[in-house]
Amino acid sequence: MVSERLVHHRRNARLRRKNRAAQAKAHPDGMKLIRTHEIRLKWTGEKVIVFAEAEGERVEAFGPDVPAALEALAERIRIEGVKLRAPAWAQQYRDGETLKAVCPECGYITTMSDFASVIAYICEGCGAGVDVEPFVDS
Ligand SMILES: [Zn+2]
Repeated sequence: MVSERLVHHRRNARLRRKNRAAQAKAHPDGMKLIRTHEIRLKWTGEKVIVFAEAEGERVEAFGPDVPAALEALAERIRIEGVKLRAPAWAQQYRDGETLKAVCPECGYITTMSDFASVIAYICEGCGAGVDVEPFVDS
């Protein structure tokens, strides 16, 4: 017997594959589209590497310090025509006693019954990783 959790996992994996395929189709010219909420920094002992990556796409640059590395990354993004897309964050809210959030990508409403608040979740509607604004209880 297949558990409900496994079914959800398979469904989410299928949705993520579908999403990636749709994104690849949207950019047949080979332009990199990187949807991420992170620009990461790494010190190697000699230089700062700065990069953004998501779903197999990556853009990176380096410099002697953080400002130089960030400037080099900005230059590389412009020159290579990489599109870095910052995702919108979801708002969480209470519907009675139930915590819910609306996916900013697809509009799917996720119900999180067992939580007082959330900081992030995987949307069951589109498979996107969704960051959530801090909960403001009114
Ligand atoms: Zn979604």
